[in-house]
Amino acid sequence: MENMNWSDLAFGYMKTDYNVRCYYRDGKWGELEVSSSEIINIHMAATCLHYGQESFEGLKAFKGKDGKIRVFRMDENGKRMQSSSRGIKMAELPVEMFEEAVRKVVKLNERFVPPYESGAALYIRPLMIGLGAQVGVKPAPEYMFMVFVTPVGPYFKGGFKPSKVCIMREYDRAAPQGTGTIKVGGNYAASLVAGERAHELGYAAVLYLDPKEKKYLDECGPANFFGIRGNSYITPQSHSILPSITNKSLQQLAVDMGLTVERRPIPVEEIATFDEAAECGTAAVIAPISQIDDLDINKSYVIAKDGKPGPVCEKLYNKLRAIQYGDEPDTYGWVTVIE
Ligand SMILES: *Cc1c(COP(=O)(O)O)cnc(C)c1O
Repeated sequence: MENMNWSDLAFGYMKTDYNVRCYYRDGKWGELEVSSSEIINIHMAATCLHYGQESFEGLKAFKGKDGKIRVFRMDENGKRMQSSSRGIKMAELPVEMFEEAVRKVVKLNERFVPPYESGAALYIRPLMIGLGAQVGVKPAPEYMFMVFVTPVGPYFKGGFKPSKVCIMREYDRAAPQGTGTIKVGGNYAASLVAGERAHELGYAAVLYLDPKEKKYLDECGPANFFGIRGNSYITPQSHSILPSITNKSLQQLAVDMGLTVERRPIPVEEIATFDEAAECGTAAVIAPISQIDDLDINKSYVIAKDGKPGPVCEKLYNKLRAIQYGDEPDTYGWVTVIE
């Protein structure tokens, strides 16, 4: 890997050496298996293919200045995958097995963890699918859990910079009491039309409103939303938002910095009062928002007038990244060193 240009890597797939897999059959999970094949061979009548029994996770491993590899809050991803399983009637994987799989796949692909200086990371993608030949609509008899990894470049190649997002009222990514709170592929399928339209119009993402009343902010397609006003970190509360681990971590750091955290329904119009706004998630940590255009009612909220990220976003971003790369002490026990 000596000749790799880590900093130029995109958020894409690159073949690595190994992935790990585990099957649920006859009511129990089997042993973790190591594979060097990128292919999975499944029955054409598997429930994941027809009825969307599929969930996934996303987390990262970082190489520190000290050469150690750190994985960020994987127990939280393990718990969230269990919640996804409960939400679409799949088998629940014990968190310890999830963590063992992550440790193993990272260790086996150690040479793909980008060096500290690159600002890149190893993206870890766990997923679970329903297997077994079945045509009737009911939960699958068997499941497969697997984890693969792929190195990904730094999210902000031209520096930490804000972008524009849009509100499009004719689309929802999840139903009011639907699957918005769990990480399932179906939510992403439902967001593709709006997402592509937003990209064509020059926006980085869609900021969804609550699907019931269209009065409150929900989240962006693949990331949570927060705003900063004065000394407050304000993030939406709703029945259709995916609980982001990045957002949860940022709320803790915000409290540590002396900010007040408000988790509550946020009326759309309140955007006008925000000093800063941002998307947050594993991919970018924080992606600041410069402007929000409410397309259907032709209203624009300009947040970053100078086109620069706000000071609070910048501080939170630097703090969380420092913990992830091991530059600052991990006072909450958020990182696992892979040995
Ligand atoms: C994964 C995801 C996020 C971000 O969650 P993190 O745990 O911070 O990566 C936000 N929204 C949706 C819809 C997601 O699927």
